[in-house]
Amino acid sequence: MKALQSLNYIPKVLLHTFFPNGCVCCGKRLNEGISVCLSCEYNLSISGFQKQEYNPMEKKLWGRAQIEKATCPYILHKDSSVQKIIHAFKYQHQTDLAKFIGDKIYFHLKQYADFTDCDYILPVPMHPKKQKARGFNQAEEIARHLSKRSEIKMRNDILLKSSNIKTQTKKARWQRWLSTSSSYAVQNPQELSGKSILLVDDVFTTGATIDVLANLIHEHTNCKIYVATFAMTGSIRA
Ligand SMILES: [Zn+2]
Repeated sequence: MKALQSLNYIPKVLLHTFFPNGCVCCGKRLNEGISVCLSCEYNLSISGFQKQEYNPMEKKLWGRAQIEKATCPYILHKDSSVQKIIHAFKYQHQTDLAKFIGDKIYFHLKQYADFTDCDYILPVPMHPKKQKARGFNQAEEIARHLSKRSEIKMRNDILLKSSNIKTQTKKARWQRWLSTSSSYAVQNPQELSGKSILLVDDVFTTGATIDVLANLIHEHTNCKIYVATFAMTGSIRA
């Protein structure tokens, strides 16, 4: 771990000599600032959700959470390039991939009329301990880039995650609402009243997190919730 941390002190140019920039999917050498080669990018498994009236992501949330629309540009298959991108981003600390991922989500959302009208982008929160260990919250990094691209303000101060809710509640100086079924919390929910919000995460799997967060928000305020991720896992049939 210490050896890895010390890499931060090596000049980037020198680091690049020892660890040449390669495509995170196929390893092909690339110019600095590029993480995925054109060939791998072209072959990413696209979802095509923008052409469907009700896509599999939305169908998974039916009867669970009130969501206006949910979508993602790609499908995550086992050992696929999409999986390699997510893995490199989350576990190999290649945070510059947030730009690639954020761009892909942005261009996907631009194909819809209503997504771009959202008032705020809210990243799915990560437990502070986990975030400290990883160094970043991947959903927040994606949301930050998406916010820059779309000029929709990111709010990372409304949804929270903690395993120590009791202590947090005592300390809270503001109104904070907790989910009864999870360790998620929403603070100052009135700020979302009447707004349209875009919940952002890296991958949509079972939809459990989105389900909990959307219900928690709706318990305390009235707003429209949209969901966007980079990819959805598993079978796309629903
Ligand atoms: Zn490649």
